[in-house]
Amino acid sequence: MISNTFRIHLEKSLTNANLLEGSILSINPVSGGSVNQAYEIKSFKKSFFLKVNQQNAFPKMFDKEVLGLNLLRQSSSIAVPKELFKGNFEQQAFLVLEFIKPSEPSKKYWEKFGEGLAELHRNSALNFGLGYDNYNGSLNQVNDYKSDWDSFFIENRLMEQQRQARDKGRLDKEFSDLLELLYPKLNSFFPKESPALLHGDLWSGNYLTKEGMPSFMDPAVYYGHREVDIAMTLLFGGFDKKMYEAYHANFPLEKGWEKRVDILNLYPLMVHVNLFGASYAQRVKSILKYYS
Ligand code: ADP
Repeated sequence: MISNTFRIHLEKSLTNANLLEGSILSINPVSGGSVNQAYEIKSFKKSFFLKVNQQNAFPKMFDKEVLGLNLLRQSSSIAVPKELFKGNFEQQAFLVLEFIKPSEPSKKYWEKFGEGLAELHRNSALNFGLGYDNYNGSLNQVNDYKSDWDSFFIENRLMEQQRQARDKGRLDKEFSDLLELLYPKLNSFFPKESPALLHGDLWSGNYLTKEGMPSFMDPAVYYGHREVDIAMTLLFGGFDKKMYEAYHANFPLEKGWEKRVDILNLYPLMVHVNLFGASYAQRVKSILKYYS
């Protein structure tokens, strides 16, 4: 809950930043978040979206989120909520974003989603990575630059999650052996492509509908292989068919992309092992066994 003193602090901060006219009418929890507490701040004229966490629990988490949102915004592909205010209050860090009022998807929603995602992926960089770490959920995401995707994926994604799983006691010998067997097989497994700006955590909980059109949220951006985002959309069942059709029409995927989905999804699945427990290890192991 938001204390009265915090509410007063928010009211002052938003008023001084010329964002709020009048007073805050209410601050109500919004469900669905996995890491932070989320709220809708209502005022007479409009609402704001507020995220709060313990200042020292996840250092610079909101700074990284804003950097990611800015990179997505600059790509002029799919809308993202505007950053309005960032601060600290009584050991809590907070971020105020534009509130996206839920709306019905328009008829062209999925087509626009596919076109926008393709447009996002046209944003390229010299290397894979980002030059600074950010977060995937509450986990540190390593983004050290690499000039080739194979090394980036093996070292910064799989080996890094393997290390974290080992530290947490969630990696048994079989799991570890299967991973070690996989690594050499990944050399030249992926078609060579330029690094593409990714959302980085594109599951169905990380987009919203703003005035009928898609809006991204909660990104874990970096420059990576664009099949990462496509694979992630398929991790829990898949998005509307029209999204994939529009994507292909705008930026065709290399042949055989379907066969690379499971390998790419080893990363989010291992993130799940590290965030939510060893119960996800079975799905990881069955993919690894298939490829061993
Ligand atoms: P967390 O970082 O804890 O995962 P989220 O950013 O996912 O939190 O936000 C929690 C919930 O709040 C989401 O499931 C979504 O429904 C809603 N939400 C996120 N951003 C906005 C926004 N800008 N406007 C309105 N609702 C939002």
